[in-house]
Amino acid sequence: MTRSKSSERMDFEISVLRLGHRLVRDTRMSTHAALVSRALGAREIIMSGAEEDDTIDSTNRVNARWGGQFKISHIENWREIVKHWDGVIVHLTMYGEQLDQLLPKIRRKLELKSNKLLLIIGAEKVPREIYALSHFNVAIGNQPHSEVAALAIFLDRIYKGKELYSTFENAKIRIIPSSKGKEVVNQNEN
Ligand code: SAM
Repeated sequence: MTRSKSSERMDFEISVLRLGHRLVRDTRMSTHAALVSRALGAREIIMSGAEEDDTIDSTNRVNARWGGQFKISHIENWREIVKHWDGVIVHLTMYGEQLDQLLPKIRRKLELKSNKLLLIIGAEKVPREIYALSHFNVAIGNQPHSEVAALAIFLDRIYKGKELYSTFENAKIRIIPSSKGKEVVNQNEN
């Protein structure tokens, strides 16, 4: 994915960790979490919980058509990732502190520590340990809603909206924005 650079550091490498994926029940939400991560600037999503179902295949099918290097994988034990993460850890939870207050602190920590951000989202009940292991517990408002919505808002705010103009390499198809109807270009025909 290529993103235009500004004077501010915007080249964070964001990995999303999706906790507690439950087979069948969560497949659609997990797939949406993967698609939102890809479209809004994360470099990868790691699914933990039940052994993977169709989420990995359907995300890879999107990569093949729409391009980019977005990575999706499954891990048995989330502790392996969280305990050894060499960067900043942000957990999205309605119990956290408000996003607006934390964004400058998160950016500062990324500048000082490393540009690698692990962004944790839950499904149902998140283990208590996660709250302590995370550098920041971030609320996207203190009302319950959805991990997909929380993820989208966080990514958009950390990138200040610039990720919406990203382009993906090796795309087979590309949309020409149109005021009416659908305009899609097959890149192979150019
Ligand atoms: N008890 C959960 C919590 O801690 O936010 C709500 C469960 S919700 C079905 C599943 C996931 O959505 C949560 O683990 C969290 O990552 C995300 N989520 C829901 N509401 C949120 C909010 N207001 N702010 C940030 N994340 C939220």
